[in-house]
Amino acid sequence: MSELNLLPARFISVEGVDGAGKSTQLNWLADWLRTQGIAPVLTREPGGTPLGEKLRALLLSEAMDLETEALLMFAARREHLAQVIEPALARGEWVVSDRFTDATWAFQVGGRGLDAAKFTALEHWVQGRGEALLQPHLTLVFDVPPDVGQARMAARASLDRFEQEAADFHARVRAAYLERAAADPQRVKVIDATRSIEAIQTGLAIDVPRWLRGEA
Ligand code: ADP
Ligand code: MG
Repeated sequence: MSELNLLPARFISVEGVDGAGKSTQLNWLADWLRTQGIAPVLTREPGGTPLGEKLRALLLSEAMDLETEALLMFAARREHLAQVIEPALARGEWVVSDRFTDATWAFQVGGRGLDAAKFTALEHWVQGRGEALLQPHLTLVFDVPPDVGQARMAARASLDRFEQEAADFHARVRAAYLERAAADPQRVKVIDATRSIEAIQTGLAIDVPRWLRGEA
């Protein structure tokens, strides 16, 4: 027993290109945390609140100006932090979110080409706590080449506005995730998600406790 439940409540985000295996591994991670005596709040972005889910539906379906898209992502995030994430952490509950700010960095800055300075301003507006930023304690980036993600999504009945983007878009998204990880290796961990589902989980069961304790 690794006694993770003795740690203060942690906020974990799960990231990666579409089809990387985020939902698969998030569900496993939640089950695994329960075996450790931790009942996490499971949530997602965009979304996670009634208003956020309405914004999600628009973001995934409606054509819009690219800066409007970024602003709506951060508006949904503000609501998500205020209504779900911060109250849960304050109650001492763990939070596991399917995507958070690193996704906006990857999709809107990397994929769409939004000005990084605007992104930084929005991030400080929405997540700023004095000089610091409220960030996940641990971010898992499930990394696959975009064609692997595309192939895994092939079974889906319909693709959303992001999933329909061309291969070069997804390649830029992936590169931006890897850049985020290189810039903050203590928080953002890259997981080779081309491996089998079981091999990834065996690795996570070893690595996640170490990472949560701040070991390399
Ligand atoms: P995401 O949430 O990142 O879009 P999903 O977890 O929905 O990805 O996975 C997409 C598809 O790929 C699902 O059918 C899932 O069963 C499958 N899948 C997930 N991880 C792997 C893996 N490591 N190897 C092979 N198939 C996988
Ligand atoms: Mg998913």
